[in-house]
Amino acid sequence: MQDNPSSPLRDSFGREIHYLRLSVTDRCNLRCRYCRVDNSFIPHERVMRYEEMEKLVDLLVPLGVGKVRLTGGEPFVRKGFPEFLTRLRTAHPELDLRLTTNGVMLAPHAQLLKELGVRVNLSLDSLKPQRFASVTGRDLLPRVLDALDALQHHDVPLKINAVAMRGVNDDELPDFLALAADRGLDVRFIEFMPMGEGTLWSDSTYWPAREILESAGKLVKLGPAVNNSALDGPATMYPILGTRGRFGLITPLSCHFCATCNRLRLTSDGRLRTCLFDDREYALLPLLRRTDIPEERRLELVRRIVEKAVTRKPVGADILAKRRNEVARRTMTSIGG
Ligand code: SAM
Repeated sequence: MQDNPSSPLRDSFGREIHYLRLSVTDRCNLRCRYCRVDNSFIPHERVMRYEEMEKLVDLLVPLGVGKVRLTGGEPFVRKGFPEFLTRLRTAHPELDLRLTTNGVMLAPHAQLLKELGVRVNLSLDSLKPQRFASVTGRDLLPRVLDALDALQHHDVPLKINAVAMRGVNDDELPDFLALAADRGLDVRFIEFMPMGEGTLWSDSTYWPAREILESAGKLVKLGPAVNNSALDGPATMYPILGTRGRFGLITPLSCHFCATCNRLRLTSDGRLRTCLFDDREYALLPLLRRTDIPEERRLELVRRIVEKAVTRKPVGADILAKRRNEVARRTMTSIGG
């Protein structure tokens, strides 16, 4: 499969699509109170098989997708995930391959991630064991810290992401800044988004980036803002002066990045979403599985759906403005965070 884009995907606002976030499973080994609120899962038979995901990546790469982030649910809970990553890398040596993980099962795979050239975002919302257990529903902070050590030991490109929740982890800002400074890491706070129903989100737990930055600036000396979208995505990063660490903010609510959005999302049940905030989904899996149509034709039809969906990719902020208190009806873990 060629990695050179032949006809790039472009939406009606002229945004070119280069980035796929692929949810490999909706299952997770944590029960974060801001994310998953129930225990309902997509039935196994409706979840994409790895070979189906590989076919879709094969189809999207020639359309200009050069970056794929594997997410979930928790990718490592799905059996065969390391082998899947290896096959993806073999099929697409040039692909910018990334992973979002809670790290609980990661440590034994750190060396493989380095060998495959996978960049990792590690989600970590608290550095206090008891609080970590209360937020995630599992007493597993030591496993995540083992993952952090293993990733740094193997020199895997790494960022830490924490969901910023007022009254939950706001008192840990000094500890996260120290983590970034001491370990020479990027630590980013993501604004808490209202997703699904019944999560921790409320006006009082929402902690806007502006206030986080103000507090961080009182604790450490921050250098000027850096926006390098190729490396940092939508995050605005601030060097912590005198250290190799950086502190960053991701602001989906207070300062959206729709104008430069280049993303597509694929849910674990094979539904294409062109915007996190838009609940319109395009079911690719039933078509991909049709046995009465030759495969080449099926893939051609899927490609057309993708192209059509892209032309209808909205400006998410417009949707958000209409329903302030609910970013999306599905939770992050079912869409793929
Ligand atoms: N299990 C993996 C992990 O924990 O990184 C991948 C899936 S998780 C849904 C992806 C990311 O979405 C995590 O960093 C999580 O903190 C973030 N997330 C989930 N719900 C969120 C919300 N309501 N607002 C902001 N970030 C959220």
